Amino acid sequence: MRGVTVVDHPLVQHKLTLLRDKNRSTKTFRELFSEIGTLLCYEVTRDLPLEQADIETPLAAMKSPVLAGKKLVLAPVVRAGMGFLDGMLNLVPSARVAHIGLYRDPRTLVAVEYFFKAPEDIAERLVLVLHPMLATGNSAVAALDRLKESGARALRIVCLLATPQGIDKVQAHHPDVHIWTAAIDRELDARGYIVPGVGDVGDRIYGTK
Ligand code: URA
Repeated sequence: MRGVTVVDHPLVQHKLTLLRDKNRSTKTFRELFSEIGTLLCYEVTRDLPLEQADIETPLAAMKSPVLAGKKLVLAPVVRAGMGFLDGMLNLVPSARVAHIGLYRDPRTLVAVEYFFKAPEDIAERLVLVLHPMLATGNSAVAALDRLKESGARALRIVCLLATPQGIDKVQAHHPDVHIWTAAIDRELDARGYIVPGVGDVGDRIYGTK
């Protein structure tokens, strides 16, 4: 599908299957979620530009590649996106973090913003939006709108699961934003949950239900 990368790495797929199991404990759900965050981060950063640096090994001087330019911004959509954050920061510890507080109105499923804080130089950085459940697409579009309003110019979305509807919505509003996801699930239920999905990610990560 154009504009979407399904990360079919066997470790991601295996861990996703473990996550889907309704009997998974809060502790192991949170651990697996973070591990998938690390693996997705590896995939989504695969094409980052490199430049040659002059270094000295114990034996010789050489030129060797390092990441070029300013480091990333990780932008978790709270709460679910926080589940990816530490796993990604393990790989890119110099990344900046933008927090986006959105909740879904349970009646209309429209995204309502209650918190936003992003680095001042966001325009100069690649922004990875951590949005594990791309369901209706409403929160993803709201998060992307808000990040662009604050100056972000280069954005990618990192999901655990996406729906065809959510993908269509993001692509209609933000055709410049590529989506990475571990799987595309078939549909939404009446409450806006992804089916078969993994359930309510915030509740499962933090044990609130
Ligand atoms: N948010 C969740 O936590 N789960 C879904 O299935 C959809 C949105």
